[in-house]
Amino acid sequence: MDHFIYKDGVLHAEDVSVAEIAAEVGTPFYVYSSATLARHFRVFDEALHGMDHLVCYAVKANSNVAVLKVLGDLGAGMDVVSVGEYLRAKAAGVPGERIVFSGIGKTRGEMRMVLQGGIRQFNVESEPELAVLNAVAMELGVKAPITLRINPDVDAKTHAKIATGKSDNKFGIPIAQSRRVYAEAGQMDGIEVVGVDVHIGSQLIDLEPFRAAFLKVRELTEQLREDGHNIHRLDLGGGLGIPYARSNEAPPLPMDYGQVIRETVGDLGCEIEIEPGRLVAGNAGIMVTSVIYNKAGEGRDFLIVDAAMNDLIRPAMYEAHHDIIPVIEPDVGVEPKLMDIVGPVCETGDTFAKMRAMPPIQDGGLVAFRSAGAYGAVMSSEYNTRPMIPEVLVNGDQFAVIRERPSYDEMINRDKLPTWL
Ligand SMILES: *Cc1c(COP(=O)(O)O)cnc(C)c1O
Repeated sequence: MDHFIYKDGVLHAEDVSVAEIAAEVGTPFYVYSSATLARHFRVFDEALHGMDHLVCYAVKANSNVAVLKVLGDLGAGMDVVSVGEYLRAKAAGVPGERIVFSGIGKTRGEMRMVLQGGIRQFNVESEPELAVLNAVAMELGVKAPITLRINPDVDAKTHAKIATGKSDNKFGIPIAQSRRVYAEAGQMDGIEVVGVDVHIGSQLIDLEPFRAAFLKVRELTEQLREDGHNIHRLDLGGGLGIPYARSNEAPPLPMDYGQVIRETVGDLGCEIEIEPGRLVAGNAGIMVTSVIYNKAGEGRDFLIVDAAMNDLIRPAMYEAHHDIIPVIEPDVGVEPKLMDIVGPVCETGDTFAKMRAMPPIQDGGLVAFRSAGAYGAVMSSEYNTRPMIPEVLVNGDQFAVIRERPSYDEMINRDKLPTWL
């Protein structure tokens, strides 16, 4: 469910006309709905009702500080994978006690900054990382609270580039080695073991891989307790998928996902953390772009739009589907045409959709890419020296630019000429 619907024939974000935002901000741009963000956070919060829990939004999905503040103000925790994301969460007013630090390549410098700034826990992904964290914590005279991220060797049945829970993926500590590594951690003066962590992938559209992974976490938790560890927190990661195509996908509901958690680990007396990113932000955002040209090819019609793969890379990178709709609602009975929807970047990969049925849209007309709130703006670049596109946040009948489009001077002046040129 989201808040992007037609009203009086014009696509609205909550109560604001998308065409009005386009007139003021210029295209292309991203626009996010506060109400959708809030609703998605609450759906997870309610799915874990009755269990001691914290929903830690995965910041990498959409890290704009205003988005983080909407969620943080509702009580969300944050899952970060770099110090940059940690500082963004802090800038949004989220206290360190609600921030967890994930990722396979945390550096000493990052560990030091986060230990000094306050952290809920580190999700440690390897033995060398554990040893370095222990050393950094001892230097600072503190104990670092940790879970070990376990690789449960479960097939998440999702796109290969976003599956993380099989033994040949780079993530986590193989479950077969985990008791030994926990035993090491238990001996370290700079480490305090608090729980177990798992995250098996993203855009999962089946609950069974979650169930399989959580049952492995359950078994491990019981073994670790027998080994004398005080396991009182389970971080179950993120990964619940969203419907990208309205027509055919029906991923599981957070309520049913919550039920799987309840059934598998709900009776262990542990505090439950989850780290949803995509499901919180994905359908809370759209990307709006203008048609530059209608180009008729040989047996193909192309709609060339002013957004490109540098603004939204998901189709090029993961063959991802986005529903693409006109901002002005087409009249009933208008015949759709099959078109390739492409950006201006000089790569054939800069194709958003092939043979997509679209109503005719004149040059200058606006179209919106749905489900673009997660892994959209955060993965953008300035490839082809195209300015990063602005982000807009809507709240009821108000909107504000929450990241500005840089000027060409700002972009170019970041380059420095060496003295000899
Ligand atoms: C990416 C990631 C998430 C979020 O995944 P979504 O599919 O966006 O819910 C959560 N935890 C970790 C460790 C991640 O790397």
